[in-house]
Amino acid sequence: MLTVYVPKEKMPLVIGRVMDRARVFAPVKEGHAHRFRLVNQPHHVDLTYQNSRLSPKELMHPPAEAMFAYSLKKGDPKEGILEEIPKGLGPRVVWGIRPCDAKAFQLMDVNFMTREYVDPWWQKRRQSTVLVGLGCHEPCSTCFCTSVGTGPFDRSAVDVLMTDCGDGYLMESVTEAGEALLAHVPKAEAASENRVAQARAISEKAEKNLPRLFVPDPLQDKAMNELFQEAFWEEVQFACINCGTCTFLCPTCWCFDIQDEVHRDEGVRVRLWDSCMFPLFTLHGSGHNPRNQKLQRVRQRFMHKFKYYVDKYGNGPACVGCGRCVQYCPVNIDIRRVAGMMTASCVCPT
Ligand code: SF4
Ligand code: SF4
Repeated sequence: MLTVYVPKEKMPLVIGRVMDRARVFAPVKEGHAHRFRLVNQPHHVDLTYQNSRLSPKELMHPPAEAMFAYSLKKGDPKEGILEEIPKGLGPRVVWGIRPCDAKAFQLMDVNFMTREYVDPWWQKRRQSTVLVGLGCHEPCSTCFCTSVGTGPFDRSAVDVLMTDCGDGYLMESVTEAGEALLAHVPKAEAASENRVAQARAISEKAEKNLPRLFVPDPLQDKAMNELFQEAFWEEVQFACINCGTCTFLCPTCWCFDIQDEVHRDEGVRVRLWDSCMFPLFTLHGSGHNPRNQKLQRVRQRFMHKFKYYVDKYGNGPACVGCGRCVQYCPVNIDIRRVAGMMTASCVCPT
């Protein structure tokens, strides 16, 4: 495995060189927030960000994606035939992704690449994307990754891990894809032992600053019915306005809807993000809705994250502790507090 040191002033040069070989997506400042964008100019990349508002989930699972086109024209030989719309799935690098957001891709793999069905676009994007992680040396006050099995310098889902050492970045390859990428980094110095020791000290300090707030493990043994019937759901759901913000910002929420958009005799089949917080999400064609009450929808979101996912896939929970839902919920519903109630292990800040 390769370990190199890149002084900060050389980073645009390094990113530019990577751009010669692949499309690079990285955090770019837009107004008050950062978002992962296709990079046209290396100096647009801002690695001083804390967390992006929208997670980089949109790079693997776009909010709206045209899947197929078809014709409804009478007599057209292509009438009613679905033609795949090209997606541009060539080599990509996501530069500066937080370890928690990279971990979220792993958690979502189980949904898009099952034994029975493989989503070809998800699979191709995952296979053609190298993830260059950026360790979180100053986590937000809303972060709780260490409570859900990951961490600010977790290497388990990235190909390269970068540590901000003040005047430069220590870049360590984790996978073969990461090593191949670092082998072409220009102007990089081999990292000295001191630099490696400095990076270790930075990551240990960040982890210490993020104590575990709750322990999700007991939920594996807790009966589903017992949790389902808990009285606290009434209190948790009270303020929710079912806006869906928490699910759209969440790096591990994957729900989508498929709709046909038809203009005259041309049709496009589109996949769009959807949310279990919306009443229409579970409305059946018959008119029956198994989750027509707010309490049922709010409970579903937390139960899926901490109970159903874990029971079904044997890992998880389906939350990486990024804190976006805590930061942006308009009525301050705090998943850390809810997880504390569910696990009866609350050491929560609120
Ligand atoms: S962001 Fe808050 S108010 Fe909106 S759906 Fe989620 S929990 Fe409810
Ligand atoms: S549930 Fe909230 S804290 Fe957990 S991954 Fe989703 S947005 Fe982040």
